[in-house]
Amino acid sequence: MWALRSLLRSVAGRAMSQGPARRQRPPKDPLRHLRTREKRGPSWGPGGPNTVYLQVVAAGDRDAGAALYVFSEYNRYLFNCGEGVQRLMQEHKLKVARLDNIFLTRMHWSNVGGLCGMILTLKETGLPKCVLSGPPQLEKYIEAIKIFSGPLKGIELAVRPHSAPEYKDETMTVHQVPIYSEQRCGKHWLSRSPERPLGRLSPEQSSDSGSTENAQHLPDSNDINQKRDGRDPSLVVAFVCKLHVKKGNFLVLKAKDMGLPVGTAAIAPIIAAVKDGKSIIYEGKEILPEELCTPPDPGVAFIVVECPDEGFIQPICENTTFKRYQGKDDTPVALVVHMAPESVLLDSRYQQWMERFGPDTQHLILNENCASVHNLRSHKIQTQLNLIHPDIFPLLTSSQSKEEGPTLCVPTVQGECLLKYQLRPRREWQRDTVITCNPDEFIAEALELTNFQESVQEYRRNMQSSPVPAEKKSQYPEIIFLGTGSAIPMKIRNVSSTLVNLSPDKALLLDCGEGTFGQLCRHYGDQVDRVLGTLAAVFVSHLHADHHTGLLNILLQRERALVSLGKPFHPLLVVAPTQLRAWLQQYHNQCQEVLHHVSMIPAKCLQKGAEVNNPTVEKLIRLLLEACDLKEFQTCLVRHCKHAFGCALVHTSGWKVVYSGDTMPCEALVQMGKDATLLIHEATLEDGMEEEAVEKTHSTTSQAIGVGMRMNAEFIMLNHFSQRYAKIPLFSPDFNEKVGIAFDHMKVHFGDFPTIPKLISPLKALFADDIEEMVERREKRELRLVRASLLSQDGESQQKRAHTEELQSPQSKKVRA
Ligand SMILES: [Zn+2]
Ligand SMILES: [Zn+2]
Repeated sequence: MWALRSLLRSVAGRAMSQGPARRQRPPKDPLRHLRTREKRGPSWGPGGPNTVYLQVVAAGDRDAGAALYVFSEYNRYLFNCGEGVQRLMQEHKLKVARLDNIFLTRMHWSNVGGLCGMILTLKETGLPKCVLSGPPQLEKYIEAIKIFSGPLKGIELAVRPHSAPEYKDETMTVHQVPIYSEQRCGKHWLSRSPERPLGRLSPEQSSDSGSTENAQHLPDSNDINQKRDGRDPSLVVAFVCKLHVKKGNFLVLKAKDMGLPVGTAAIAPIIAAVKDGKSIIYEGKEILPEELCTPPDPGVAFIVVECPDEGFIQPICENTTFKRYQGKDDTPVALVVHMAPESVLLDSRYQQWMERFGPDTQHLILNENCASVHNLRSHKIQTQLNLIHPDIFPLLTSSQSKEEGPTLCVPTVQGECLLKYQLRPRREWQRDTVITCNPDEFIAEALELTNFQESVQEYRRNMQSSPVPAEKKSQYPEIIFLGTGSAIPMKIRNVSSTLVNLSPDKALLLDCGEGTFGQLCRHYGDQVDRVLGTLAAVFVSHLHADHHTGLLNILLQRERALVSLGKPFHPLLVVAPTQLRAWLQQYHNQCQEVLHHVSMIPAKCLQKGAEVNNPTVEKLIRLLLEACDLKEFQTCLVRHCKHAFGCALVHTSGWKVVYSGDTMPCEALVQMGKDATLLIHEATLEDGMEEEAVEKTHSTTSQAIGVGMRMNAEFIMLNHFSQRYAKIPLFSPDFNEKVGIAFDHMKVHFGDFPTIPKLISPLKALFADDIEEMVERREKRELRLVRASLLSQDGESQQKRAHTEELQSPQSKKVRA
């Protein structure tokens, strides 16, 4: 295939020289389920769904929050969308493409953190409309997302605030119940002090500690007004969802036996009448509905309520809407889902409130005490990689060993990932889908692969003959790849983030895509607070969602970590394009106080020769170098979107780490990175896809390696792989002893440089099937391209079509030739 490939390179090269012209893509097909629904028309009205169940997506762990998926044959709903929820839905095949309603209980990052990514994905899938219900601030939150996502054309995002009338569709009627914390009425609410829930932070750790020097950067003007009109942490919204009554089934055989005109037009009004519960007169004889129909299924209800802290307990207990459902006269409540910490559940007032629903109501608890593995595939691949090299691929921590929940006077069920409660046809818990994580199985599976064990042994023999030189054995810096995929978080690779541990007590993050905190949790387990406590700075390369939407959670969780470590709070240094400020500002105004967490250094101020006239920024730059023990922290503009930066860090001990961010091959980066010890460069696409790489302003594998060679980098780690290379990217012939490929949770020291290229043989054995499939795909694509350029007069347009076809289904395994 190599001759063919070089032919293609010249073809692609020609296309490249004509610049990154945008292709016209065919318009997206409307979704099938919507067409079906249109066809079905309004006939759904009186039926009621046959199948309805609730399923836990995220059980309330610190890394993904609490999220619930609700299924009926007509609709799909999501309750809350924290960071990582989209990734879990992808892994566990809960289709996002069919979500047209998302309910949010509170404007808090743990509930809305994944919404940016989710909305972008829904837009990509061609969903024409999505309705968000909950706090009215959602409207502004969507506006804020547009700061970095652009105008979100093609998807209509409607917000249905809690003040809107009840919502009704094919499956159920939903009432939104606003609940205001007791704090709202107290003095606390009106004072300048932060409006965090009581008991979480002491006053000296309040927002004032860091905001003064930052004030001119990120003005927090009209604070009182913003509290009145903008963010409102005293509000949670609960949802009471009532299923429509499901009518009984008409018993055809019985009707025949009774001599009714089955099979003729005359039967239709009879069926309609008995299904509506009316008796009929047939040939002078009265027939009761129960003689011809199974009994109707009553319209049971379920309730989703979040009680984030004690301040909401009394208002929940006194709420009149809930009281109605605790009495005999309204719809029976089959299930109450409680998103509440243990401290709330243990409160006797809350327990009494739970009891009042009566013995027929089930209670599901989602909180941090729920112990459940969620990201199973990530655990699996890591367990298998660990067989190749236990230090470079350390095992993930699993949270399965948490203590049992408290014993309450009401029987409760602890949430687990994918646990189901079925409301129809029969009310019952279903545990068959619940995830079990069995590392022994993963190991056995890997050991059975052809050549796997042999190639691991061979590489070990190899390594023994060439030991690592002593001066390279230093523990620091230690590079931990937290996310190595591009665009959207997927089960195997999360989106961009790399942790650089500079010393035992100093660390820095290079980019911070959605779910970065979750990755840290899985990597460090109970040590996550300690690691957050060492975090000195974050570099955000550019404002694509796969690089920065995890930042807010890092800020918020870091604050919590500092409190639990008893360390003083101080803002985190963030080097980023200035445009990041607008997003933080909006989020701060509308959702949660965050500005005091950040001391921002505009990335442009760290460019070579940049003049910094602002004394505050100058001071922050000095602080940055000092805090990270760096001689130099340089940035340069790279060839990607507007305001995209790469960076180079030179440590006081002499090493130099260069990070590309997202970019096409970039000369400025080559210059800035001269003689780097380590270059971390994006390699989104495989060789042969140079044209796509130009269109999407990314690099191919060989281009990335080429940049590293021109830079004279001692070693090159490739990352940011397109999600079409879920497990492993395709290797290019340019791979050499200076190149490694990054995996999520991979841990690299400079001393590992000689080892990493030698891992390729066992990696190839582990992922042989995937590689074979990708090679097949590549060959088909290449043949298509060759055929197109040979057969067509207008060769170029054909190639484009061939490319475009493949682009339509980047993750699809069945790309047709
Ligand atoms: Zn990216
Ligand atoms: Zn990008």
